This record gives sequence, structure tokens and C-alpha cells, in this order.
Amino acid sequence: MGTLLVRNAAVLVTMDSQRREIPQGGFFVRDGFIEQVGPSRNIPSQADEVLDLAGHLVLPGLVNTHHHFYQTLTRVVPAAQNADLFTWLKTLYPIWAGLTPEDIHISTQLALAELALSGCTTASDHLYIFPNGCRLDDEIEAAKEVGLRLHASRGSMSLGESKGGLPPDSVVEDEETILKDTQRVIETYHDPESGSFTQVVVAPCSPFSVTPELMREAAGLARAYGVQLHTHLAETLDEERFCLEEFNHRPLAYAEELDWSGEDVWFAHAVHIDPQEVERMATAGIGVAHCPSSNMRLASGIAPVRRYLAAGVDVGLGVDGSASNDSSHMLTEVRQALLLSRVGAAAAPQIDGPGELLTARGALELATLGGARVLGRDDIGALEAGKCADFIAVDLNRIEYAGALHDPVAAIVLCEPVPVDYCYVHGKPIVHAGRFEKLDLEMLIEKHNLAARRLVEAV
Ligand SMILES: [Zn+2]
Repeated sequence: MGTLLVRNAAVLVTMDSQRREIPQGGFFVRDGFIEQVGPSRNIPSQADEVLDLAGHLVLPGLVNTHHHFYQTLTRVVPAAQNADLFTWLKTLYPIWAGLTPEDIHISTQLALAELALSGCTTASDHLYIFPNGCRLDDEIEAAKEVGLRLHASRGSMSLGESKGGLPPDSVVEDEETILKDTQRVIETYHDPESGSFTQVVVAPCSPFSVTPELMREAAGLARAYGVQLHTHLAETLDEERFCLEEFNHRPLAYAEELDWSGEDVWFAHAVHIDPQEVERMATAGIGVAHCPSSNMRLASGIAPVRRYLAAGVDVGLGVDGSASNDSSHMLTEVRQALLLSRVGAAAAPQIDGPGELLTARGALELATLGGARVLGRDDIGALEAGKCADFIAVDLNRIEYAGALHDPVAAIVLCEPVPVDYCYVHGKPIVHAGRFEKLDLEMLIEKHNLAARRLVEAV
């Protein structure tokens, strides 16, 4: 692959153990991994490729810990605009039942392009609906053409309406099929090595769409292969009521009883978690994908993020599916995390706990180091020797930051979110000088709009 030199960044945010921010910073990359970081004058002056980022803020690539790429096809569906989670799902399940393998391919690439343009270099996706021959393979193959790192969650739904679940019977699978296919995709695609581009995650969808038996078997399967476990948990009060009525437990206790506890587990949302439960999650090492935009969009509530951080729970950020956001913009999610946390501090201090407000740098840390930890990775999330050369850069000379340059690092969070100018993964450009390099974006958007219209108009 050769060498790459990045130099002259106005500020280089490292997220290393000292949280160094280096003026006129740079780093030297060999074969996709960083070898040296420091002031530009202290690192080599030549390489196969030299990227001069004068006037730019440079950061580690952002890590998205929860998404449903296919939902980019069902943004802003009128009947689902003003609904809580259960109503929203029941409106959308029949539309999603029309998904095809080609739809998975197109929506994966569209979502990853939007993520890359907003600063994301590693994304986790949760695909849990497999109608009409759709497979996780369709997503993994599509992602390879874009070049971001992917943690592909093999989701599932097995508890249809006739058995007391939320989804219609037509979109659930039988549990033997789910487990066999999950094992197949782990064996085919999972790469645990440093610098890995594809990892597979075992991910039954939620307490109201799978059985306890499947949850327990899924945990056993994941541990047999050393892969991670992921599900939606404690997202809404409706879900809490469902768990109390069906399982006689609050959501976290339900998960714990089924062996869903440990450093290999992370939950999406974890909004309705009380202070004692926060402590249990910290002790067990369970991580959280915090999805502030989705939680606001569906009126789900405010996750106790500051309490999680104070207790030592790993917290990353997720844009969540694009039908409940309705965006895949990571820098927007960083800003939303900060703003929603401030609302929580004022409106519900008994939940979120006392103490300092979440800062701009704290929010950026959630999106970088926090996300890396939640996904179980020590090779991404920071720009330091030995880590992957996954980085983003933003030109500071723009209207959004005018008057904010006394602190460019905080500006990228507190000012209006912008598209990034550079997004590199493993030392390779995905976005360069503001241009998405990997696919014809205009054609992709056209195909995506056609697919979205076909899907929504069919129901
Ligand atoms: Zn979700």
C-alpha cells in the first residue's frame, strides 16, 4: 500500500491518552497504520502520497455504533412522521416487507456515502428483516465497494403477532433458520484482526420481536465464536411495560437473565435505565449506542448519558435507522448528543445525575474513542502510533465557523454541522477535497429514489 504523510493541520485532535491537540500537526502512515504523530516538523517530510491539510481541523474518523441502512429508503413516510416507536414500526413493517436484495445493496451504499461525507469511517449496521431472498451478504458486499469499516449485525425477528410479538407474521423467520444463517455469516465474513474491515455481530432485534429462547441461544452462539452481541433495549416505556407484563422483569433484568451481560454486549438506546441499573451495566462492562436524534424523533426519552459516563459505562453514538432520524449525519449526531444532554441536565437531574455538563470535547470523545470501545476495537478511535489511519478533515475557512476560530475543536460540535472535506479509511480516500470518491453519487441517489418510491407506493 505504501506510505502517506498528513501534515500542517491547523489542529490535529489525537484522542490519545493525553488527549493531545497538536497545532501544525501531522502523522506518517505505512500500509494503512499510523507510525508517527506530532508537529509536522518532527515527522518525516516525504512519502508516496503527501496530504497538506493547512487550514483544516483533523480528527480521528467517527464511529457509528447503531444504524439500519435499509431505512434510508423509508425516510419521512407521512404516516410514520408523528408516531411513537410501536406505531411507527407497525406502519413501516408492511413497507419493509417489500425489500429486495438490490434494495439492500443500494441503501447500504447510500447510507455509507452519507456517513462518510459526515465524518464516519466505521459503521455498525443492524439488519433484522430478510424478505424476498435478502441476505446480510448483500449489505457486506455493497459496503466493500464503498470502503468504510463495517460491523454487520445479523439481526432477526421470530416473535410474530400471532405469538404475542409486534411484527406481522409475514416478516419473521423461524429460529433454526436464524441461528444457522448467523453461524454461516460469521464463518464466511468475520475478521477479528487489527485493521479489520468486516466484523459480524449476533443481534436479535428487540424484546418484543424475538423469544427469550432465541436470545439465550444467540448469546451462546456469539460466545462460541468470540463475536459481539447487540440488541435494542430500554428504548421506550412501551417496551418496559411489555417486558414487565410478558417476562415479569424490567428490560435490563430480562437481558441479564438470558446471559446478555458482559463486555461483548452493547445495547442500542438504553434510555429507560435507572441509577442501580447503570451501576450493574458498568460492573458488567455492557456498552451503549446512544442515539439522541432518534430518541427525540420518536419521543422515546433522554438516555442518562452523564450518569453512564460517571459510572464508567462505555458510550458510543449512533444515528439509528434513517427512518427515525431522518439522517445518517454523524457530526449532527455529535451535536445532538451535546444538546440533548444539556436538556436532560436541566429537565431531569434526578435521572442524569449531578455534575458537569457534557462538553464539546466530551461529545467528540463519545463519537471516537467511545464508539471504538463499544464495538470492542482498540485499533481505531484515536490518531496515534499503531492505530489505523482513519481520519477526517474539515476546512476551517467557512461561514459556519466564522467568529468561532478561538476554539476550532469546539466549533465542529457547537456550530452548524458541515460535510467533511476529507475522509480517509486505512490511509485511503473515501472523500477527497469534498468529493465522494468511490461511486457515482448522482446515479446512486437516482436509483435510491426509484427504489424508495417503488417500496412505499406498493403498500
Ligand atoms: Zn435501531
